[in-house]
Amino acid sequence: MKVLSLNFLSCAVKGCKSSSDSYPLHPKDAELVQDDIEVNAQLLINLLPRIDWTALTTTATELGFPALPPQAPTPEELEADEAKLKDLHHLLMETQIMEGKLVCASCGHEYAVREGIANFLLPSHLV
Ligand SMILES: [Zn+2]
Repeated sequence: MKVLSLNFLSCAVKGCKSSSDSYPLHPKDAELVQDDIEVNAQLLINLLPRIDWTALTTTATELGFPALPPQAPTPEELEADEAKLKDLHHLLMETQIMEGKLVCASCGHEYAVREGIANFLLPSHLV
């Protein structure tokens, strides 16, 4: 799964809906692969307002990436700065979690990631 997808996922456990700790999920024992995908500047610029930047900075640090700036770049900044654009593209689009777990900080549930797919099916007592 792409790092981008992780930015749109929170814990599915019923009791976690109201907890701010249930987002973002925290990667654990993550095995990363890097895909080589052509940069689509317009796509990234359009996505930017929908990205939760605070969550992304947490995820990037947890995955061992260099720290992101505390504030998200504006679309204009991103458009004008090719290095920044490429870094963001690399993190969001090219980096995939292939194996590992995604852990909820609220309830501790661990979602397994296998072959790049996160399993969000919950045991019945948690639904
Ligand atoms: Zn949870």
